[in-house]
Amino acid sequence: MKDSSSVAAMTTVSLQCLDPKCGAQYPVRDVRSECACGNLLDVRYEWSDFDAEAVKQVWKTRAMSLDPRDRSGVWRFRELIPFLPPEARVVTLREGNTPLLEAPHAADYAGLDLLAFKHQGFNPTGSFKDNGMTTGVSQAAALDKHVVACVSTGNTSASMAAYAAYGGLQAVIFIPAGQIASGKLAQALEYGALTIQVQANFDVTWKLVFHMVEEAGVYLLNSVNPFRVEGQKTIVVEMMEQLAWEAPDWIVLPGGNLGNSSAFGKGLREMKQLGLIARLPRLAVIQAEGSAPLYRLLQRAAAEGRSPWEIGLEPVASPQTLATAIRIGAPVSWKKALRELEATRGVCEAVSEQEIADAKAVIGLCGIGCEPASAATLAGIRKLVAANVIRKSDRVVAVLTGNLLKDPSYTLSYHEGTLALPREGPFDSAQGRQPAAIEPRFGNRPIAVPPDPEAIRRLLARHPAR
Ligand SMILES: *Cc1c(COP(=O)(O)O)cnc(C)c1O
Repeated sequence: MKDSSSVAAMTTVSLQCLDPKCGAQYPVRDVRSECACGNLLDVRYEWSDFDAEAVKQVWKTRAMSLDPRDRSGVWRFRELIPFLPPEARVVTLREGNTPLLEAPHAADYAGLDLLAFKHQGFNPTGSFKDNGMTTGVSQAAALDKHVVACVSTGNTSASMAAYAAYGGLQAVIFIPAGQIASGKLAQALEYGALTIQVQANFDVTWKLVFHMVEEAGVYLLNSVNPFRVEGQKTIVVEMMEQLAWEAPDWIVLPGGNLGNSSAFGKGLREMKQLGLIARLPRLAVIQAEGSAPLYRLLQRAAAEGRSPWEIGLEPVASPQTLATAIRIGAPVSWKKALRELEATRGVCEAVSEQEIADAKAVIGLCGIGCEPASAATLAGIRKLVAANVIRKSDRVVAVLTGNLLKDPSYTLSYHEGTLALPREGPFDSAQGRQPAAIEPRFGNRPIAVPPDPEAIRRLLARHPAR
């Protein structure tokens, strides 16, 4: 069998400024999350002698190997993320390997013939953050860093805490007090992270600690870290393998800090460049109405007939949504995400809290389930189909970013009919103002009964076996 040295003979790696006008390059071992000009950096590879068909065979064969790197759904594709020196240690919890699940009921709800969910909630800590954390923490270890830190709306901290603990590093996490789902906080504590709750939202906390963390010599593992993006891009690689390398028409994902949107676009472009896929799918990024700065930028650019680059992103000062994973008003990766939307002829849509809640319940009724932010995908698809942007017959894959169990109180409140909209902030939907509470259109309340056989028999009679 061919090994990786014979299918992708040579690669050179560097860090490069995302702004083509700057184009500054840095060695891959430089510890920096920004270019001197202030823009984010990309990991840039130059592959030579890349044999796409042979690489696909190597990846397939590795799926049967017992090597921990081959058991990982990230490192199995290591020819596409060759930034570590060959002797480096890989910190892996066997992330990735997530299923692509057909969901006819959800397809119906959205108005599509077919819809599949790629469920990143099947990861070791229950979200797609694991795909990027294995690469980020491995790079931290390769750089001899012993302390890693992040600011997080929840899943990044849960994931970083786990990978740091598994790799023998200390984790420091900053979270907005009272604004993360209980499952995520519980994970971070259990995995032993030093957990600092700041009485401010994500954006304020980020501004406050970003430079402080770097000055303290602590390795920053937010999605500004280009090595996290490298791991996350393998989500679409695994997806294409599952689709027998036939790209779908659309890939739909929720957008918060926009790191994942950036990663998907980069992965898709690289796969096309290397001949692994023949064409690019279009990306659709879905934001929550109350924290939709990218959506607003693109709406404004279209209305004014101007370039979004020229207008620039205007942060949402007080972002609001119950989908806390995407409650971000000033997404750090907006330029990268915009670049990828342009490269894939992508779109950005915004959905209301009611739409997210209903879509989440529909995904649950498929036997699949997800956390609130992930459900923005189905809500967004439904809107884009109604607007004829996505056609009924298009092949669509939606990425569910996090596990149902991450945010149990949201789910319980929805079914009990007590899920209330976030308190502050404007919630102007297309239909005018939203009602104060979320209507449980697909609610499923538990039924209390006394320990009385007759009462139980009567209940069973109302639900005849089908
Ligand atoms: C982090 C996260 C998002 C948002 O991803 P970005 O890369 O910040 O846009 C969406 N859903 C879940 C469950 C997340 O954890």
